[in-house]
Amino acid sequence: MEIQKIGIIGAGQMGNGIAHVMALAGYDVLMTDINQATLDTAIQIIDHNLGRQIGRGKVSEVQASTALGRIQTTMKLADLGNTDLVIEAATERESVKRAIFDDLVPHLCPDTILTSNTSSISITRLASRTDRPEKFMGFHFMNPVPVMQLVELIRGIATDEATFDACKAVVDRLGKTAASAEDFPAFIVNRILMPMINEAVYTLYEGVGSVRSIDESMKLGANHPMGPLELADFIGLDTCLAIMNVLHDGFADTKYRPCPLLTKYVEADWLGRKTQRGFYDYRGDVPVPTR
Ligand code: NAD
Repeated sequence: MEIQKIGIIGAGQMGNGIAHVMALAGYDVLMTDINQATLDTAIQIIDHNLGRQIGRGKVSEVQASTALGRIQTTMKLADLGNTDLVIEAATERESVKRAIFDDLVPHLCPDTILTSNTSSISITRLASRTDRPEKFMGFHFMNPVPVMQLVELIRGIATDEATFDACKAVVDRLGKTAASAEDFPAFIVNRILMPMINEAVYTLYEGVGSVRSIDESMKLGANHPMGPLELADFIGLDTCLAIMNVLHDGFADTKYRPCPLLTKYVEADWLGRKTQRGFYDYRGDVPVPTR
């Protein structure tokens, strides 16, 4: 099936990044959120990020303005019924995603492929709540979407090959690389990455190192481009905690227990860059460690 119109649910950091790359690749995009202000900000962010790509000579002004013109927004979830592919990129909470699919499914065309950008939640379980488990799969972008090359594609137990092939063709058209992952908690990237980030928070919690020394150690000692705490702030501490909880519940193994300090930051609503405070305070000119 030829995909031309893509619906995106959630206009946060992932949703607006996905809209950006889809529009640049020539797809028509319809993006929704529960918040009009978030939709307006998303368009401003996409415009700003396209401007940066023009500055770096990656896209022309015409390509950027054409891409921006392909992105429409709506507050009505039902408007996405008439798209070929839906990518859900709302908050990493199963109850939120389930409610979205419950509301959306009655409006969907029979052929629409339904996907989730979830970082960790069972695709099979999300799919089983819809009317189309065979046309449902995981479509997991990395952050920041315009920069990162990988997309994990996750088949649920019922996903059919035509659905996988259609999603793989979209990844190819984006010029990105697809990795196929099986549907087990947190798939490949976050199964490996999140326990490392969680361990960095334990290292901080137990006083083995400070925020700065932990990040510097992993940058200079393991050649990571970002320190694990800096990266956690970038991902969002609520998302990191949600993924650890999915690993902990899904494997029933204490090695995945979320660090109490990570929970504490989330309780304080210090969620990282998106709320201006996390392991670093971003309210000034330079990030300042909060511990
Ligand atoms: P975010 O907090 O930046 O954005 C989430 C958006 O979802 C918000 O704008 C919120 O208003 C919206 N939303 C919440 N409920 C909604 C509803 N019922 N209908 C429509 N919109 C709704 O989060 P994010 O970082 O963009 O993460 C979104 C998804 O992408 C999550 O599933 C997350 O696990 C996944 N993901 C995140 C990253 C990352 O690094 N942050 C990477 C890959 C995948």
